[in-house]
Amino acid sequence: MDISTDIRYLKGVGEKRAELFSKLGINSVGDLLDFYPRMYEDWSKVKKISETVVGETACIRGFITHTPYGANIRKGLTIYKSGISDGEEVMDLTIFNNKYAAESLKEGEEYVFFGKVGGNLYKREMTNPAFASAEGGDRIRPIYSSTQALSTKIIEKTVRTAIDALKDSIEETLPDNLRQKYNLSSLVFALENVHFPQSEKNLEVARRRLIFEELFVLQLGLLLLRSRSKKQTGNIIKEDKTEEFCSLLPFSMTGAQRRAVGEAVEDMKKDVPMNRLVQGDVGSGKTAVAAALIYNAAKNGFQSALMAPTEILATQHFATLSKFFENTDINVALLTGSVRKKQKDEIKEKLKNGEIDLLVGTHAIIQEDVEFYNLGFAVTDEQHRFGVAQRGNLSKKGTEPHLLVMSATPIPRTLALMIYGDLDVSILDELPPGRQKIDTFFVDYGKHERAMNYVKKHLDRGLQGYIVCPLVEGEESELTSATQFYENLKNNEFKDYTVGLLHGKMKPKEKDEVMKKFAEGDTQLLIATTVIEVGVDVPNSVIMVIENAEMFGLSQLHQLRGRVGRGKEKSTCILVSDAQNEEAQTRLKVMCKTSDGFKIADEDLRLRGPGDFFGSRQHGLPKMKIANLLTDMKTLKEAQAEAKNILRDDPKLRKKENEYLRKAVINLYEQMKE
Ligand code: ADP
Ligand code: MG
Repeated sequence: MDISTDIRYLKGVGEKRAELFSKLGINSVGDLLDFYPRMYEDWSKVKKISETVVGETACIRGFITHTPYGANIRKGLTIYKSGISDGEEVMDLTIFNNKYAAESLKEGEEYVFFGKVGGNLYKREMTNPAFASAEGGDRIRPIYSSTQALSTKIIEKTVRTAIDALKDSIEETLPDNLRQKYNLSSLVFALENVHFPQSEKNLEVARRRLIFEELFVLQLGLLLLRSRSKKQTGNIIKEDKTEEFCSLLPFSMTGAQRRAVGEAVEDMKKDVPMNRLVQGDVGSGKTAVAAALIYNAAKNGFQSALMAPTEILATQHFATLSKFFENTDINVALLTGSVRKKQKDEIKEKLKNGEIDLLVGTHAIIQEDVEFYNLGFAVTDEQHRFGVAQRGNLSKKGTEPHLLVMSATPIPRTLALMIYGDLDVSILDELPPGRQKIDTFFVDYGKHERAMNYVKKHLDRGLQGYIVCPLVEGEESELTSATQFYENLKNNEFKDYTVGLLHGKMKPKEKDEVMKKFAEGDTQLLIATTVIEVGVDVPNSVIMVIENAEMFGLSQLHQLRGRVGRGKEKSTCILVSDAQNEEAQTRLKVMCKTSDGFKIADEDLRLRGPGDFFGSRQHGLPKMKIANLLTDMKTLKEAQAEAKNILRDDPKLRKKENEYLRKAVINLYEQMKE
């Protein structure tokens, strides 16, 4: 047996349980060892009954005073009563409806009990506490993310079996010199103590070692993906044409935009390829920054590429940029999955011989056999939507183009630097002038009709609006629910208006058609799913209603809301929700209070925790099992330095002693490919 052994062969597992484990992503014994506890319960600090405080969660050690007796209170409800004595005092014990638990407690035997202390000053009480035999029971216990059919206890038992079976054969994975330098424990020790910590100190030591390894592998992967030869291209801007570009714009750039363009132009004058992130809240004008650099590249004789995460966005960028460059000799083309073969071939031909200066598209640009004549500059928009790997692909298209990534996701600067390494960051911290705050309201469904009337009022004034569909997961259900929702509004509330429908399951062509009609003002109201979340820009659309708003995360609501408030007219966003739970209400209230993307991201982080915020969808990084990219910054730094060291010596991790690391890197990044 080793870590690759199928979990079904582990003692006590079998076919059926293996299936349940599989639902948790655990298939091999190794997966099980890496399935770290979600939290711990400290049963090692046993208190006397007299020391406990009503309301606290505590661990008590004591004898059962008498075999629990059950009383049928009513049909389906049996209460078992007994007592726990610690030699000094007696505590009441109540167990609801759990015959099995009640019967396993034997009079005169000693147990440890873990639970919330109830009762009053004179008589303490515990209801439904967790318990275990006192012998070996007073320890720190792991609590795993469990499912209904697979309790944390069963997982714990299975992990115990796995560790015992493999203890003598687990191979060390980190190089010895690293373990010495950073005082990291052995892998066996770390695994034993992360699951069954003998003390808090041991748990700390174990966690540190595992976090280090995880971040080390992450950094190795990032460095490998990024490894670019330094000698190529570079220096594509000989002459700064930014002023010339500015004269083409219908507005004047903000100070922040100018700064960002200036910083990038400086980079592009150098021989080393640029690696720059432009981070700016929704509506801060990132497109114009990209356009200025594309203009510079073109005027200096180089081609550019702009990649967007969705067809809608690519199409929209194509329209915007074509307009910017309308009176120039810059040739812009659009290449997406839905472009016909014949036209595609033509574009490819022109691209190859240099007739096209700017290619806008979805990731079709990197997937197909597209060849550039001399790609000098590549931009990816809303880059958090792309995996790191995809970005790497784009840069392979040129000899070694300058790279700009644009994102509205606020990642703390230090973290961005750590994650993307030698990436430079420009921040657009200024919105274009004349923007008004988007008034945001949170109402329940009792006021839905009023909300709809409010929308109509706007449409009657020649303005446009969005209604975001209630969120439904899954392919089929998205289709039916969006369509039904649309039919209903179109035939009832909005029968006197022109209404469009946009959802993710439509063909790209249909989407384009719908967006075009809306952008041109032929459609007054657009019913949409979250496909409009990213980047859609129709300034005349000033009102948005978000149905079942509690279903969306804060950052997502912020992105959605960013579709309005793009013109001179006052904009409104109405969040409709009947959610009763406090967390959801807090979230929706945050939206009403602030429009600052950085603040909202902070709140999001606070409410949901970093695990969620840094889910792989947010920034294209693999999901971490134990490390926390925010709080483990110091270790991240160390891991990065060491990853660089190793790669200096063995750039592709081909050496025998690095075989394990190589596999681990591949493994980690495999998961990201979806
Ligand atoms: P985002 O950063 O969200 O991608 P966009 O590039 O889509 O923002 O810009 C949002 C809107 O603001 C567009 O309609 C754009 O034309 C406009 N805009 C950008 N920069 C300026 C500016 N300096 N002054 C006025 N309007 C601007
Ligand atoms: Mg944008």
